[in-house]
Amino acid sequence: MATGNAIRGTRVGSGPMGESERGESAARILVSFWCSNGHETTPSFAHDAELPTTWDCPRCGLPANTDMKNPPPARRTEPYKTHLAYVKERRSDADGEALLEEALAKLRARRGEN
Ligand SMILES: [Zn+2]
Repeated sequence: MATGNAIRGTRVGSGPMGESERGESAARILVSFWCSNGHETTPSFAHDAELPTTWDCPRCGLPANTDMKNPPPARRTEPYKTHLAYVKERRSDADGEALLEEALAKLRARRGEN
């Protein structure tokens, strides 16, 4: 049969070493990544998977890459903003003046009505 020949041809092409297809389909490779703290992590990837350029260090969370001598720089973390900082930001001097002006205007209007 023609289809049988096609399938046999594919198998020969994909397994030049003659390895068992069942075992090779689960083959994984180990890739070492290093973070800037010197931690090494070795995740495994499918042998035909596209390897990531960076990997988050599971120990300190810093980005890691495969270049032990030149790890990626640590991510800049956003400075923590306190509740007070938010309040100060909202109630700036200009806003305070505007609120005062509005209040005075209402007072004047009320007095005018009376
Ligand atoms: Zn680390």
